[in-house]
Amino acid sequence: MYRMLEINLKTGETKVIDISELFSKFIGGTGVLTYLAIKELTKELDPLSPQAPIYFGIGPFNSYFPSASKTIAIFKSPLTGDLGESHAGGRLSMAMFAAGFHVIKITGKAEKPVYLSIDNEQVNLIPCRSLWGRSALSVERILREKEDSRKGKKSILRIGPAGERLSPISSVTVDASRHFGRLGLGAVFGSKNLKAIVISGNRYAPITNKKEYQAFYNELFKDLAFSENTYKYRDLGTSVNVIPLSKIHSLPTRNFSQGFFESAERISGEFFAENFLAQQISCSHCPIGCIHVATLRELFADPHMYKTIKVSYDHELIYSIGSNLSISRADEILKLLQFIERQGWDAISIGVVLAWATEAFQKGIIGLSHTENLALSFGDSQTYLSALEHIASGTNEFYRDLERGVYYCAKKYGGEEFAMHFNRNEAPGYMTGPNAFVGYAVGVRHSHLDCAGYSVDQKFLGRQQDIEKEVRMMYEESLWRMVTNSLVTCLFARGTYTPNVVEKGLKLLGYDVDLQWLSKASRLIHGMKYVLKERLGFDFSNLNLPGKLTKVYTGRGMMTTEDFKERIEIYERLISQDKQIAKEQIA
Ligand code: SF4
Repeated sequence: MYRMLEINLKTGETKVIDISELFSKFIGGTGVLTYLAIKELTKELDPLSPQAPIYFGIGPFNSYFPSASKTIAIFKSPLTGDLGESHAGGRLSMAMFAAGFHVIKITGKAEKPVYLSIDNEQVNLIPCRSLWGRSALSVERILREKEDSRKGKKSILRIGPAGERLSPISSVTVDASRHFGRLGLGAVFGSKNLKAIVISGNRYAPITNKKEYQAFYNELFKDLAFSENTYKYRDLGTSVNVIPLSKIHSLPTRNFSQGFFESAERISGEFFAENFLAQQISCSHCPIGCIHVATLRELFADPHMYKTIKVSYDHELIYSIGSNLSISRADEILKLLQFIERQGWDAISIGVVLAWATEAFQKGIIGLSHTENLALSFGDSQTYLSALEHIASGTNEFYRDLERGVYYCAKKYGGEEFAMHFNRNEAPGYMTGPNAFVGYAVGVRHSHLDCAGYSVDQKFLGRQQDIEKEVRMMYEESLWRMVTNSLVTCLFARGTYTPNVVEKGLKLLGYDVDLQWLSKASRLIHGMKYVLKERLGFDFSNLNLPGKLTKVYTGRGMMTTEDFKERIEIYERLISQDKQIAKEQIA
């Protein structure tokens, strides 16, 4: 049975609902949550109001199969006003399963700061005034010790001060260094006076056909743990991309002014591994282990008192705080990341905001009166650290605005041409060419992970373009991700979870499905996403390419606005049938 736990933070009331029927129609994870959200998210709903729901969801593969280790969060984004969807790893999916819930829905607003405690069927709201104001890192330490006696699987989610300040670029941190990073879930927590969630349980996955299951499991495990498909994640992690992207002019540098970073080698995955890597860790039940954690020694008192800090890193963080700010020292990047992690900002977004502010300063759009006499300059990490301290302290209006995201800042102060966002979401770290940018614009959550446009660009490097074919490849990738995000497997395991493997896995779990059913389900879920997005105000005809990107050389050369628009029109045409399917089936 698939169950949803509903919690009202105002009243403390809880309800458990059987949602097995929804799992049989929409698979689970993103499919089920989108169906639930479509009933509740409206254009008028204030994302930071008590009524705004937060959904967490897992799918049928979580706890049964390896690398099905992610959890989906769906909410209304305070950053974009559009669908908020974010994915995180850690131990959360196993803890939700162990507690007996595939979906958790949270509404209401607690009168005072609380943390939500779920331990199997026991649900409590625990006042935590003393945790309010504390960093996302220290809260985890405190709650881990406090809840140490719990048995079974346990996961801890929390926000930092940025979420408490309702910053729409704030994240929710999950366990060790995993995040619901994008689109402002941290602010939604903060608006509900919800500082943290501790969830635990000791239910285990029942297996019926043990022999067949074990054989299938072993095949999956072997492929995930040892195959070429996952080697790069196990070895250097996604930061293996830094040098190759720079070589093909696709590594955003100095606020997307160029795709080549002259110091790429000094901030590469190889350099981090050789000089700072202390540990590789994994989300629960994942044999890939892509999470790379560095140690940083820091003097905290003269003359010889040092502390050791652990900071995780990956490609996106190295781009946003490294090349895009022109910081070429790995230790300086780690120091900034540590500050960001404590505050609980989305590292991509805050990096893009700092890059915009630097260019705005260089162009005289903002001045020393805005920055409290800081001369923002690419490559100057000490000044960036001071700027982050000002943002965290809310020193003045300008610094308070910076944590509202780059779209807001550019609208207010100017510099929209070089505000690097797509549909108000700060841009990820690939400037491979047209499909990367179109993918950010049209993707269901405006992320590089929606339809992998960056990968399509790389497949067409040096080849004649075929716009229709390229856009169709992105569309088909996005469709299949509706299935994997409903199961909910990690995208880094996508080489293993092919359609035939997924079909076999679902059959083993008792689903009566075939490839045709999966294809139909993917189109239905895809269509639902766009029906929901359009209800919230998303409009293909409003999508814009930041002007600056028509003036820089990308992996596939120069980009034009006409090319961007043409690809968007094709994408819109491709999804129109999916929307129709969704409208008919959920009417
Ligand atoms: S590949 Fe990495 S992010 Fe994905 S589940 Fe495994 S450890 Fe987590």
